[in-house]
Amino acid sequence: MSLRAIPQVEKVLQQLGDTGLPRPVVVAVVRRELAELRKRAAKTIIAPDAVIASIRSTLAMLRAQRIQPVINGTGILVHTNFGRAPLGPRVLETLREIGGSYNNLEYDLTGGARGGRAAYLELALAVLCGTEAATVVNNCAAALVLALRHFATGREVVISRGELVQIGGGFRIPEILEASGAKLREVGTTNKTTVGDYARAIGKETALILKVHRSNFFMGGFVESPSTEEIAALARKKRVPFIEDLGSGAVIETQRFGVEHEPTPAETLKRGVDLVTFSGDKLLGGPQAGIIAGRAKLVAALKRDPFFRALRCDKLILSALQTTADLYLNGDESQVRLVTLLAEAREKLRARADGVVAALVGTPVKASVGIGRGQVGGGTLPRSQFESVTVDIVPRMPLEEFARRLRSHTPPVIGYVERGVFKLDLRTIFPAQDDVVAKAIELAAT
Ligand SMILES: *Cc1c(COP(=O)(O)O)cnc(C)c1O
Repeated sequence: MSLRAIPQVEKVLQQLGDTGLPRPVVVAVVRRELAELRKRAAKTIIAPDAVIASIRSTLAMLRAQRIQPVINGTGILVHTNFGRAPLGPRVLETLREIGGSYNNLEYDLTGGARGGRAAYLELALAVLCGTEAATVVNNCAAALVLALRHFATGREVVISRGELVQIGGGFRIPEILEASGAKLREVGTTNKTTVGDYARAIGKETALILKVHRSNFFMGGFVESPSTEEIAALARKKRVPFIEDLGSGAVIETQRFGVEHEPTPAETLKRGVDLVTFSGDKLLGGPQAGIIAGRAKLVAALKRDPFFRALRCDKLILSALQTTADLYLNGDESQVRLVTLLAEAREKLRARADGVVAALVGTPVKASVGIGRGQVGGGTLPRSQFESVTVDIVPRMPLEEFARRLRSHTPPVIGYVERGVFKLDLRTIFPAQDDVVAKAIELAAT
């Protein structure tokens, strides 16, 4: 294609028609692609149709990259790719109310003057964790970095080699320690660490003892680590703080739902840990946040750290977390969306699957009710799978093509392939979405 044959921006825009994206974004994309073409024009020949097709595909990709609701048929409840815990109606109502009006975020309504930020929430979280004090930052990683920076910059953090893990993408405990300016003091071996190992490592340079929940990693066989109580006793004797990064921090009894027990912040603190850190949007089922709970003196010290200001949450997060905490404290945890999903009885899932399968009679797919293996996800309870109910689809096209079509549906529907069958797990699909799912399957199949 000669330079002159490269279409004008305006012409291309006309040809594209309505793209569903703001015009300045489309103009920018067109300009970039045309500029790229001009660079290559001397070397290659490109048909004008191909130019339009290439721009259309870039725009389609951008549309798909806009944050939007998706229907999660993977059976993974706390899916980091899908924004972790979805929020329930009570929390959504809070977001609407607080986000849409002025509020007393930092105003003392009793005294009529500037007040503390989220003082009620901090107390509510402390009560929920059965401890003296609590506070909130942006996420659990931030909570840990804040604690390490504050208590351990330039000094040693004693941690078992078995806990130097990577959690999810880009969260590696040794790197977090280094980034916080703390020195790593590894003790024990990958599979065995004793309380004596900890004791021998503690000295003048020790800032704190850190224990980390292994999250999405587990060990079996010839393994040993001291109990939390033993480490806590040592920490008290040596007068160093003992911090545990719990990650998930379920406040409910997870065994109720037929999965393993996940240590709660309350029981961990009761065992003698001074501070725990955990996420707001994993098993707690709230918004993204990092909760720090434990001894009042330590929490207060962290809140005074200038770095705390850089990690603080906004009114939406704080109020959403406040409603979530209240739901638990009032015994209304069944209204926390994540708990609702976990608690959904298998018979109900089965009845819903029957409904979806019935709706697909006469469509080009073979649909049946299947068995799924749901997971909590988000690095929580990696050993626990719970039996779930799926809608199993055999379409008349390659499974990848069928999955791709469902992903490009509005809203996108995401499932998984197992043994030549496309599966949608109803545990993570909300009951109100069943009809949409059936329609999406029908559309994708034809
Ligand atoms: C998930 C997890 C984190 C990171 O939590 P974010 O809220 O995503 O920052 C940290 N530590 C542990 C043990 C975790 O499981």
